[in-house]
Amino acid sequence: MRVLHAAAELFPWVKVGGLGDVLGALPQAQRSLGIKARLLLPAYPALKKVFPAASVVGEIGDLLGTGSARFLLDRTPEGVPIYLLDAPYLFDRPGSPYEDAGDSEVRFGALSLGAAWLAKHGDSHHWKPEILHCHDWQTGLAPAYLHYWGGVRPATVMTVHNLAYQGLYSREVLSRLALPDEAFQMAGVEFHGLVNFLKGGLQFADRLTTVSPTYAQEIQGVELGCGLDGLLHHRRQDLVGILNGVDGHVWSPSASPHLPTHYSAQHRSGKMVCKNRLQQEFHLVEAAEAPLFAVVSRLATQKGLDLILANVEHLVGLGAQLALLGAGDPALEAGFHAAAHHHRGRVACRIGYDEALAHRILAGADVLMVPSRFEPCGLTQLYALAYGTLPLVRRTGGLADTVVDVNTTSMDEGKATGFVFEEATAEALGQTLDRACAFFTHRAKDWEKVQVTGMKQDFSWRASAKGYLELYQGLVG
Ligand code: ADP
Repeated sequence: MRVLHAAAELFPWVKVGGLGDVLGALPQAQRSLGIKARLLLPAYPALKKVFPAASVVGEIGDLLGTGSARFLLDRTPEGVPIYLLDAPYLFDRPGSPYEDAGDSEVRFGALSLGAAWLAKHGDSHHWKPEILHCHDWQTGLAPAYLHYWGGVRPATVMTVHNLAYQGLYSREVLSRLALPDEAFQMAGVEFHGLVNFLKGGLQFADRLTTVSPTYAQEIQGVELGCGLDGLLHHRRQDLVGILNGVDGHVWSPSASPHLPTHYSAQHRSGKMVCKNRLQQEFHLVEAAEAPLFAVVSRLATQKGLDLILANVEHLVGLGAQLALLGAGDPALEAGFHAAAHHHRGRVACRIGYDEALAHRILAGADVLMVPSRFEPCGLTQLYALAYGTLPLVRRTGGLADTVVDVNTTSMDEGKATGFVFEEATAEALGQTLDRACAFFTHRAKDWEKVQVTGMKQDFSWRASAKGYLELYQGLVG
């Protein structure tokens, strides 16, 4: 089975969030199941640097009036073939892939078009996918192009990693993107008078997926449907939620090169060393008995971090500590800075993006907080589980599917892995902080049991890859 994944991020070279992690791990897991998975990304400078010897395997001609574009082909160190859409005018730019220079619609329209073109025509070695698998809005128009071009086409899958980002642009972009006028209708890419990239995929892909079973249900409702709930509900027979996994080669407490020492479910003493080093690194009081809460996150409204800010005093009052790594919303950045200033030795933050520090935090903390308002899957709580750090999460999306709340029943059954709360309010979070601190301080043995249960969870990519294989088989036999 031949599958082409088209996306805008790829760990470790171009990563903004979870999307990069998924593309960095899923194709490889699929290949170990015998699926011939390949990747397509824009030829960003970071990728051109990593793959300088990529060979030309296709010419697409002029791409949306931005000059001629071609496809390059190479292999990742793990052996996954990777195509780069080489369109220098659009992609040869430094910085984040989403930095908007006023032409994002052309950049990602071109990526969508390039994906559709390669999937339809194949490369110069006659490799052609049976399935084009698109990820998020940046590739959402690919199934729309294939639809409007007509003729023979591969099967298509659209995966929603976050429904809140849809790629909305004014009607005028349609002609710029070489889509026909007829695309601008309800049964096309039109959305409240705008062009909606993601809707193109949701409307025209053969199958739709999202990254957890609970989120697959939630997005069919008004509250989390972001205006597309009607369409998603309508297509519910084609929609499935497949949980993301953890790349055990990257996120392992016994192997990560970023940790001061290693540990495992059987030998956990190294975790205390990681905690102490983290307290040193963040200039927190070096107290083993103080529960250390952590956050590694984009600072966005979605993530519910305002609820944590509202609880800083409360947390400090409980004798706990807080270490945060994140970047994003300036108001949240300023809020955490101020909290750290006010509670020196108890609260500390690093504003920025730091992959290695993320590992050290996940290993050194006692609790990782993910109080999201919505969460398609969430990866950090899975990394926390692997690192013996108890996740404290809101019951939504993938968080609901992956963390089992500590209570009498779950403890008796040996299933508890963390702390879960319902309402997105500061009070609800505050009560859960109380619970977590009391459990940490008074039930050390039980805490260890929960840690070990978490560390033994199997959230491998293999399970996810099997889920996608089943889906593909339903499409192409
Ligand atoms: P999202 O994709 O919504 O940002 P996920 O939990 O699915 O959330 O994935 C987030 C990924 O980005 C994780 O790998 C996490 O470790 C990483 N991450 C987020 N913020 C930072 C940061 N400031 N520094 C390093 N890694 C980060």
